[in-house]
Amino acid sequence: MDFDIPENLRMMVDTVAKFVKQDLEPISQQVEDEDHIPEDVVQKMRELGLFGLSIPEEYGGLELGTLGECLCYEELSKTNACFRSRIGTNNGIGSQGILLDGTPQQKERYLPNLASGQWTACFALTEPEAGSDAANIQTTAELKGDHWVLNGRKHFITNGDIADVATVFAANDRQKKARGGITAFIVEKTFPGFYVGTIERKMGLRGSHTCELIFDDCRVPRENVIGGETNVGQGFKTAMKTLDKGRLTMGASALGSAQKLMDLSIAYAKQRVQFGQPIANFQAIQIKLADMATHIYAARQMLYHAAWLRDKRGAAVVKEASMVKLFCTEMANRAADMAVQIHGGMGYVRDFPVERFYRDLRLTTIYEGTSEIQRTVIAREILK
Ligand SMILES: Cc1cc2nc3c(=O)[nH]c(=O)nc-3n(C[C@H](O)[C@H](O)[C@H](O)COP(=O)(O)OP(=O)(O)OC[C@H]3O[C@@H](n4cnc5c(N)ncnc54)[C@H](O)[C@@H]3O)c2cc1C
Repeated sequence: MDFDIPENLRMMVDTVAKFVKQDLEPISQQVEDEDHIPEDVVQKMRELGLFGLSIPEEYGGLELGTLGECLCYEELSKTNACFRSRIGTNNGIGSQGILLDGTPQQKERYLPNLASGQWTACFALTEPEAGSDAANIQTTAELKGDHWVLNGRKHFITNGDIADVATVFAANDRQKKARGGITAFIVEKTFPGFYVGTIERKMGLRGSHTCELIFDDCRVPRENVIGGETNVGQGFKTAMKTLDKGRLTMGASALGSAQKLMDLSIAYAKQRVQFGQPIANFQAIQIKLADMATHIYAARQMLYHAAWLRDKRGAAVVKEASMVKLFCTEMANRAADMAVQIHGGMGYVRDFPVERFYRDLRLTTIYEGTSEIQRTVIAREILK
């Protein structure tokens, strides 16, 4: 076993850490208040290559691999979560379908634009009647001549309002569902019949928008079926493979935020004086800090091991990815709860970032598969 992080990844992590400290952290409250990331910051993200962490070099990405990507997400998640969300769809759910299953022509057209950040991607699976039960999507796809015609409505689509290109899942055969009845399409925002609907009002993750996407006789060229004609009906597999990797990076993000919350809590506990001494002297506070540190340590080993399995062994990590997402996101939510408690009243007001982390982390056990669904996947895998 070699626990050393390769030099090239360490350098990239240092670059991200510096960017977080110098450019992102100073505006994290402004972004929260305005619910918007300034364009000059997005441009810096482009220049650093953050939109192409996972995309192969031949398409202009950094091709860091799973471990490298996770390390960057961990670092990036020590500040406002919306920054990670801004690059997340290009690196993850918005590009992976094309990367894993796309035709050479699809990769050529879309991946360079996504890696550079010139275009923004989104992933449109969830619908009002199909969340955890994703195979139950109602959006239909009907072949008419040289076009597929999509009709239906998606909701909760991250970056949907700013996306130039969307991976959209629609039913070509409602009876067959996951077994041959769902197709993945690449839909550009200029395609006729594609509309952005309502932007949802959320508990947190301000600065990152999720919205409805509406398909009203949306015309999609036949060549935009991900993987081409032979992949008609195979879209559910594409969706599941895409989500596997996302579960690891989601774990990494939760881990980075938990680490930040622990660092903030240690600093606060050392300087906050009650009963004539820093609250860090009280055993009740120490126990919380010790638990946070231990859980973070466990989460980190688990995440890095699963990333290593995927990179080095080329292994399918279905079970491990679900375990990582489940453990890291639930751990981070517990850490957020303890951090608020350690900060007392200050943990409940907006002057301190722990309040924001508490709200933002709440989402992580819900999206890209709830904790309940992760447990279902893990149980299915171990009972096989
Ligand atoms: C901010 C945000 C961003 C999102 N971004 C995207 C995106 O970019 N693209 C996209 O496609 N989707 C996105 N989603 C959707 C997200 O993935 C879903 O919300 C999630 O999968 C849960 O679906 P649901 O909300 O319909 O809840 P439901 O599926 O209705 O679940 C409700 C509750 O029932 C539980 N439950 C459901 N089925 C079972 C079962 N079989 N066993 C046990 N418990 C069960 C769930 O775990 C949950 O606790 C986003 C959601 C949010 C809130």
